[in-house]
Amino acid sequence: MILNYLHILNFWEEFIMPLMTGDEYVRSLQKIKMKIFLFGEEIDNPVGNPILQPAVNSVKATYDLAQNPEYADLMTATSNLTGEKINRFTHIHQSSDDLVKKVKMQRLLGQKTAACFQRCVGMDSFNSVYSTTYEVDKKYGTHYHDNFVKFATYVQQNDLTVDGAMTDTKGDRSLSPSKQADPDLFLHVVERRPDGIVVRGAKAHQTGILNSHEVIVMPTIAMGPDDKDYAVSFAVPLDTEGLMMIVGRQSCDTRKTEGCQLDLGNSTYGGMEALTVFDNVFVPNDRIFLNGETEFAGMLVERFAGYHRQSYGGCKVGVGDVLIGATALASEYNGVEKASHIKDKLIEMIHLNETLYCCGIACSAEGQPTESGNYLIDLMLANVCKQNITRMPYEIARLAEDIAGGLMVTMPSEQDLRSEKIGPYVEKYLQGATGTSTENRMRILRLIENITLGTAAVGYRTESMHGAGSPQAQRIMISRQGNLAAKKELAKVIAKVDESKDRK
Ligand code: SF4
Ligand code: FE
Repeated sequence: MILNYLHILNFWEEFIMPLMTGDEYVRSLQKIKMKIFLFGEEIDNPVGNPILQPAVNSVKATYDLAQNPEYADLMTATSNLTGEKINRFTHIHQSSDDLVKKVKMQRLLGQKTAACFQRCVGMDSFNSVYSTTYEVDKKYGTHYHDNFVKFATYVQQNDLTVDGAMTDTKGDRSLSPSKQADPDLFLHVVERRPDGIVVRGAKAHQTGILNSHEVIVMPTIAMGPDDKDYAVSFAVPLDTEGLMMIVGRQSCDTRKTEGCQLDLGNSTYGGMEALTVFDNVFVPNDRIFLNGETEFAGMLVERFAGYHRQSYGGCKVGVGDVLIGATALASEYNGVEKASHIKDKLIEMIHLNETLYCCGIACSAEGQPTESGNYLIDLMLANVCKQNITRMPYEIARLAEDIAGGLMVTMPSEQDLRSEKIGPYVEKYLQGATGTSTENRMRILRLIENITLGTAAVGYRTESMHGAGSPQAQRIMISRQGNLAAKKELAKVIAKVDESKDRK
């Protein structure tokens, strides 16, 4: 009996290594001395800060769920680098099935957190840097792929969270990086030393960077020969000298400091972004993944953007599931759930949400191996996925607001509900359909507010527009991948067009 018990213990130990628990993740984060600025004040760690803790909790969920045998198939994978069981967020995709599971995992996390869980940018940069470095080395005999594999192995074995930093601040959009009035508006190499490089610049709206152990930096656009110093990719830990983060504001963020739980709508989970400054940061040689090979900057950008456009076909759909559920509850609390137009609007929300999921799954199922062996999504379908994301969550949010009613933005606070003096009035006049608790009704309306207008709206609404590239960026890719010439040939054959009859 004891032997059997020990056997089971060993089995689980084997199963969970090298996976961290959520609590271990939080403790590991606390050990990193970061330079964070929030409302003009300097703090050195996000853990325990009321504004930042919900974002920590969302990343923690990526660890907690990986410990749950029910989700092991989605949340974990077998590393091609070490052969060990690892968290899928650190995985190098080995098949189109891996790509599909990635999207399903993101939908699951979206459903569990109703927020941005932030860890995907690292996974997406992992897979794009892995394949691009392989092709750079093949052309130039460099050792970037070896550097990256060493780094990725370290990340997988320690189950780290990695931020993927791509978006430069860009200054004058009509000018290339090297032509900007201020050379730092795109991150660039300012010094080359025998043991490494020194870089300066900033990366804007960095999702989850405060909750990461490491950051991978990548260029933000395709570059020409003059932009050599800007074609740079590398990884550094978060406590690196010269690295600082200025936290972005979110709508309704200070509600988190008011001690009210109900008014947050989602009091446990959230996301965060920060303007991240690299003020003369030293990068050692073995952490460099690209250094001046300008013609590969475009490949890296295209692949990272493609993976992240796929990602949205999972995460936004999961958050959409929560929003649809909350909207259906709001209709019941209002006593209108049987009205045909309400039913139809809910069907429309589901239809739009599942359309997005179709795109996420399709670009994954059509994935193909790169030269390095890892799998890349179908870039056309991934761009179509993201283009739809720039539209459909807005319509889903519009329908949610339609059904929720104006009370979502006019109802009194939790303090009013709890007040001895006026609480009974709030309780009495905000009651909904027979038997519904006023508090529950307020909770659901606040959740809808949170996702459509509050702190989570960064991740659900505006990020749907601009995250992983603004709509025009996808249209450029769609036009590039669309092969209009082949389509014209198809039409000519069917219509029996004889071009010899054309007047020249
Ligand atoms: Fe992941 Fe979505 Fe957040 Fe991007 S927006 S990091 S894909 S949860
Ligand atoms: Fe994003």
